[in-house]
Amino acid sequence: MDFNTKVIHGGQTHDPSTGAIMTPIYQTSTFAQTSPGIDKGYEYARTANPTRTALENALASIENGIFGLAFASGVAAIDAVIKLLKPGDEVISTNDLYGGTFRLFTKIFQKYGIKFHFVGMENTDHIEKYINKNTKIIWVETPTNPMLNIIDIEKVSQILKNKDVLLVVDNTFATPYLQTPLDLGADIVMHSATKYLGGHSDLVAGALIVKDKFLADELYFIQNSTGAICGPMDSFLVLRGIKTLHIRMQRHCENGKAIAEYLKKHSKVDKVFWPGFKDHPSHEIAKKQMKDFGGMLSFTTKGNKYKDAVKILENLKIFTLAESLGGVESLCGHPASMSHGSIPKKEREKVGIIDSLMRLSVGIESNKDLIKDLESALKLI
Ligand SMILES: *Cc1c(COP(=O)(O)O)cnc(C)c1O
Repeated sequence: MDFNTKVIHGGQTHDPSTGAIMTPIYQTSTFAQTSPGIDKGYEYARTANPTRTALENALASIENGIFGLAFASGVAAIDAVIKLLKPGDEVISTNDLYGGTFRLFTKIFQKYGIKFHFVGMENTDHIEKYINKNTKIIWVETPTNPMLNIIDIEKVSQILKNKDVLLVVDNTFATPYLQTPLDLGADIVMHSATKYLGGHSDLVAGALIVKDKFLADELYFIQNSTGAICGPMDSFLVLRGIKTLHIRMQRHCENGKAIAEYLKKHSKVDKVFWPGFKDHPSHEIAKKQMKDFGGMLSFTTKGNKYKDAVKILENLKIFTLAESLGGVESLCGHPASMSHGSIPKKEREKVGIIDSLMRLSVGIESNKDLIKDLESALKLI
């Protein structure tokens, strides 16, 4: 089945009790048993709920996996993965990482004796230096946030061949429309479904997708034991969002390209970070690994003044200044003070998150209007 068909039908069946085309929102905590232990496949809604099952099957289908797990948030999904580990285990992670993931690793799990190394993975040699007998997980985010670096998933998976190390890819930015990490050798795909999968800025949810039954059982055991499940209403909304993922992504990519090209030519703009540019350091990997270049981009202004970034962000009218990304509406953000505010200044500047850096999540509006909006705001500096 092609991706464009999978997003609509993949893993889905009409509701068996009524024939409803769309899986209903099963807003229930428990399910009747006809005799002790005899039920219709569902017993308690933390353990499983039909709306969540429908979403989990859809997730598995679009990521070319076999098992999907839906969580209350992206960080709840990450939390479940790290709970596979025990004290003394080590994780090697992308250094240019989503701020909330960095916080979870360093402020929560480090104190339980799990060690994290943050390395620039654009050069995969950097990973090998840190691998030792305690290494259990390689955590990859690509494209990275907010610098839009690309990490070669297949190359990382080759380094791990014959090693007992799991490769986890946070696929939030790319979505399975652009890349399917399980096909490139990843063991676990993770999503903040809050972003492109949901796609309408109306929910918070997370996901894990795997192929291996043993790994799926372990993660399911953690999910059921710790309880950070995706509720039926949010499951329904993500499922509904996924049905238009392909057409939304197509437009996000078109608009992202138009805006990246516009900004690159602007006299007040210093650098534009977008993997579609031929001179982007990992353009060739992006071309090989991704179907298109996505709707996320970042840019800096000449002189690197904090006040210029503030002026622009305060005066954009269609782009809304807000956390998050991946919705139909365009958003803008200031990583140094917003999403990456929890990362120390020195650390963030090392990876390029300087004061004038602004990040755009380009929506699916008319790109002419989006460019006009940027033009008026850039005039003010
Ligand atoms: C938002 C985000 C997360 C965290 O997901 P939540 O749904 O906010 O918990 C993780 N990774 C990336 C890349 C994100 O953008």
